[in-house]
Amino acid sequence: MNATHDTVLIVGAGPVGLTAAVQLARLGVAVRVVEVLEQPTTESRAVGVHARSMELLASLGALDRLESLGRRVPALDVVDGRTGRARVRMDLGNAPSRHPYVLDVAQPDTEAVLAERAAELGVVVDRGVALAGLTQDDDGVDVVLRSAGGESAARYGWVLGADGGHSTTRRLVGTTLEGGFHGQHFAMADADVDTSYAPDSIRMFTHPDGMGMLFPLAGDRARIMFLVDPPPEGTTAPTLAEMQALADVRMGGAVRMHTPRWLTYFEVHHAQVPRYRFGRVFLAGDAAHIHSPAGAQGMNTGIQDAANLAWKLALVAQGRADAALLDSYDAERHPVGAMVVRTTTTLTEVGTASGPEAVLRNVAMFLVGHVHKVRDVAASTMAELTINYRDSALSVHHGRAAVKAGDHAPDPAGTAVAIEDLLATPGFLLVVQGSGQEAALREVLGDLGTVVAADDALAQAYGWPIDGMALIRPDGYLGLVADSAHPDVLRDYLATSLHFGGERIEVTARP
Ligand SMILES: Cc1cc2nc3c(=O)[nH]c(=O)nc-3n(C[C@H](O)[C@H](O)[C@H](O)COP(=O)(O)OP(=O)(O)OC[C@H]3O[C@@H](n4cnc5c(N)ncnc54)[C@H](O)[C@@H]3O)c2cc1C
Repeated sequence: MNATHDTVLIVGAGPVGLTAAVQLARLGVAVRVVEVLEQPTTESRAVGVHARSMELLASLGALDRLESLGRRVPALDVVDGRTGRARVRMDLGNAPSRHPYVLDVAQPDTEAVLAERAAELGVVVDRGVALAGLTQDDDGVDVVLRSAGGESAARYGWVLGADGGHSTTRRLVGTTLEGGFHGQHFAMADADVDTSYAPDSIRMFTHPDGMGMLFPLAGDRARIMFLVDPPPEGTTAPTLAEMQALADVRMGGAVRMHTPRWLTYFEVHHAQVPRYRFGRVFLAGDAAHIHSPAGAQGMNTGIQDAANLAWKLALVAQGRADAALLDSYDAERHPVGAMVVRTTTTLTEVGTASGPEAVLRNVAMFLVGHVHKVRDVAASTMAELTINYRDSALSVHHGRAAVKAGDHAPDPAGTAVAIEDLLATPGFLLVVQGSGQEAALREVLGDLGTVVAADDALAQAYGWPIDGMALIRPDGYLGLVADSAHPDVLRDYLATSLHFGGERIEVTARP
């Protein structure tokens, strides 16, 4: 049997598996990705990349390529589908991110860019290979892989199940999705459109027959979908004429479709696995949570799962941190998945409400549209910018500072270098203000990351009048925040909160 003990096996080359592969490879971990499909899918599926994902993809060195294939969309409109009139415009321009917009790009492009980045780091996707069996013991995971050539056995240190909604990994670890299985059905088209709606907004159409969504992609291309319950029987895809008829009724008569690339019906459930870690096996993305596409949260949430797990797994797989660190993956990400399942369910129901519920919805829409603060919170929430890990055991706050441990590290405009650019150097980022302790802090951090001096704009934004330091994790979140920059505080954090053992252990990180 092939023993690859420190290697991580990633099952599934969707956006989640590939994100994990890129980050693990950057951090110097040996990775193998297996993917059952012989060829990448052409199905466009998730088309909205949110700000939090873009920040991460920038640090991974993948964002510029993705931007060249997509369209920046700076707003989200809720439109009365009966009249075509906008009820509310949610401008994303005030979102606290260097990317105050949604990047609309077809999922195969996102996967292709990530696969290219992974290949640059030496990770090649092994296509036509499916996970078929899995058992684990204290030291590793034995898997059975199936391909056209037959079955083979191999042993890995760790396995990440990023194999989507019908996850085999999930079944093999003996868990199951729990939640609502009443099913919501959508009709979807990926087509070119002629429309009077400017491509400056993602539009959600409210209609008593069922909500609709219009995502402008590059050029004349768009993604159109409608909730259709109950769905027609005996067919897997609507015709273009059927989609057009839905658009005529539910999109204010202002959308004409032609040149379809993909037409399909699909069903969504709302469910989540009870936990994300099973010893040496983890679940992420759709393998761990499934829900409505309302708000375009699915792929983005999965990408953040991968970002959260990868750096922790790298430290443990390399023997630098105790495996207890891995429990924080479930502790930090499971509540986020639960929240996404809840809110996307609500959003879908709200989009379809009629009668008194529609009145309530319209009042809520009015508030979102006319109260700036409410609108900005709604925009930031959709962009996943409000997610924090303040309650995590990994978030430690000493003294006074404007930023909070567990929040995503703010990237204030006016600083010389963006945090997301600094995170392009693999590992942690320690930002330090004052105290003359930089050399000692560098010694404590060793090759775990980079120490940089805060400039005035950053020190002000982080709330350090004199001394301070913030340890930014590779996923961009603040682990330690202190209003002093004492090396003992950092040393204690690494040993106690991040479960680091022993002295410095060398690790090879690749940019
Ligand atoms: C029709 C449709 C429309 C959607 N629209 C939207 C949308 O508009 N917005 C949005 O945010 N989300 C949307 N989604 C959801 C979105 O596509 C997912 O959230 C996203 O793809 C999750 O990524 P993932 O990597 O977890 O899983 P996936 O993208 O499903 O990738 C899993 C990969 O694992 C592979 N695999 C499966 N089993 C095995 C095995 N045993 N061995 C090896 N490989 C395996 C699969 O072939 C696949 O490539 C849509 C989904 C569907 C199906």
